Amino acid sequence: MDTVVPRISTNFSTAHSAEAKDSLRQRIAPLIKGDVVDDLPTRTQYSRDTSIFEQMPSVVVFPKDAEDVAAVVRFVRDARERGENLSIAPRSAGTDMTGGTLTDSIALVFTKYMNHLGEISEDSATTEPGVYYRDFEKATLEKVGKIMPSYPASRSLCAMGGIVSNNSGGELTLHYGKTNRYVREMETVLSDGSRATLRPLSMAELAGKETEQTLEGKIYREIRALVRSHKAEIAAAKPNVTKNSAGYALWNVLDEEKGTFDLTQLICGSQGTLALVTRATLGLVKTKRHRTMLVIFLSDINALPEIVHRVLKFDPESFESYDDQTFKLAVRFIPQIIGHFGIIRMIELGFAFIPEMMMVLTGGVPKLVLMAEFAEDSADEALYKADEARAALSDLPVRTKLAKSEAQAAKYWTIRRESFSLLRKNLRGLYASPFIDDIVVHPDDYPRFLPELNELLSHYKLLYTIAGHIGDGNFHIIPLMNLGRPYDHKEILELSPKVYELVAKYHGSITGEHNDGIIRTPYLPIMFGAKMCALFAEVKKIFDPLNVLNPGKKVPSLTHGGTVADIDRLMIRH
Ligand SMILES: Cc1cc2nc3c(=O)[nH]c(=O)nc-3n(C[C@H](O)[C@H](O)[C@H](O)COP(=O)(O)OP(=O)(O)OC[C@H]3O[C@@H](n4cnc5c(N)ncnc54)[C@H](O)[C@@H]3O)c2cc1C
Repeated sequence: MDTVVPRISTNFSTAHSAEAKDSLRQRIAPLIKGDVVDDLPTRTQYSRDTSIFEQMPSVVVFPKDAEDVAAVVRFVRDARERGENLSIAPRSAGTDMTGGTLTDSIALVFTKYMNHLGEISEDSATTEPGVYYRDFEKATLEKVGKIMPSYPASRSLCAMGGIVSNNSGGELTLHYGKTNRYVREMETVLSDGSRATLRPLSMAELAGKETEQTLEGKIYREIRALVRSHKAEIAAAKPNVTKNSAGYALWNVLDEEKGTFDLTQLICGSQGTLALVTRATLGLVKTKRHRTMLVIFLSDINALPEIVHRVLKFDPESFESYDDQTFKLAVRFIPQIIGHFGIIRMIELGFAFIPEMMMVLTGGVPKLVLMAEFAEDSADEALYKADEARAALSDLPVRTKLAKSEAQAAKYWTIRRESFSLLRKNLRGLYASPFIDDIVVHPDDYPRFLPELNELLSHYKLLYTIAGHIGDGNFHIIPLMNLGRPYDHKEILELSPKVYELVAKYHGSITGEHNDGIIRTPYLPIMFGAKMCALFAEVKKIFDPLNVLNPGKKVPSLTHGGTVADIDRLMIRH
């Protein structure tokens, strides 16, 4: 499919020759206050994120402020109008698992300079994209005792621009929802270099905006017309699961009940393909103070759907899981995973892991460990709820345990949160390869879906771990591959569409939180169908007719990337 029609000639000059590279740095540097770098070490550093892909940018730009961002966008827009094949891939902390940050053109990196926090008020905080989540959370907790609860498992590594642009979710999403629920306002740079502040508009405000003879005005007019004329189709395409980052969330733009029209809902989760986020104001919540975790050790997977069904009735704040492979890896690499804690904490955690070591030695490792955490205002209430949930499982073939304090729950959280990092750091020769890493189905469908998924995976000689948000039906399946072998590339290309077809059969989502990027964009039609994907292409064309912003992500196009051939071409090969 290729419905995005560029107004430019396809006779692009190449951005790869040494001459073009030098001139690109020289041409951009005078336009901005920030840095423009094209030495090999810097370009190499930004040629990877945490996906299975590698692509060398021609130049890396570190903007100082939104004006710098606008200047780079205007430069690229003008270049594309002249037929030059330049584009911009925005990047915050670069922990994206989909290749969303990669480009062979201009990498625009926010963490170096655009890393300032703005105002923190009682119920929201304003941030630049390059602020790390860990710093954002520290500041909001210190100032108002609240957090932005949709943080991902990569909370210690990632930054706010990526959280917003991937519409990230995490362990608290079951209770608090994903990032889009917390976006109050966004400052953006649009694809012509103009700047627009987006927030939910009343219908009267929308009518005012539509009269503006700017790209922003045109976007409001055309997106409203598109949403209006395809209302039924868009409503039907809304994924029937609690979390989704696939496609453009057209179903969230118009809220008829509230009478609002909100473009932030389209930008959030759009991976920098529609606009660049230079500042965002995000809602904060006060989470409950006391927690008790019900830990469920499960050896018979068939009991899983019933367990999930019963536990959810008690409204856990989070409901997470990891499998036996993750369990064994964690025990094998205990020193590494606790190594970054202080010495006392390390000793405490080391002792806490003794029962796990015994399970590995005696062969008693459970197939799945489930962690349902109940949060309340008092310790007694949290304990009571967890105990009730535990009692509700008493007739099922599971072992259960209550972790009554944060200290007791810490080792389970450590394994769960560190699972992907563990794989990435420790297995020489094998690469933790996210390609079917983020599927979602409704928990009611587990009894039929899981056996079919197991059957499908059993045809491949894959070593993989599964961890995830079991309460949301969101599974992170991370195979370990040798990306130096063509056979492994073939498996990735073969298995991906099969898994996504299975997910589509159960009306699930091919990505609950990690987003589409290079790895999933070609498969969006499996989930949404050709007509809906044509609407996504139309959205892209309205926002970014010249393909200035992160082409090849979110919208498959024969001329601008996002195809299976791109997956094959860009996979790491060593
Ligand atoms: C160990 C590990 C665990 C993870 N767990 C989770 C999880 O639980 N949930 C989850 O959602 N994700 C998870 N991820 C993926 C990733 O960490 C998150 O999606 C994170 O929010 C991305 O933040 P970042 O700052 O690294 O973004 P980046 O990787 O820099 O960018 C993410 C995407 O947003 C775009 N982008 C970045 N900044 C901007 C901007 N200012 N304007 C417009 N577009 C922009 C990029 O082009 C890219 O497409 C995990 C990754 C790792 C390595």
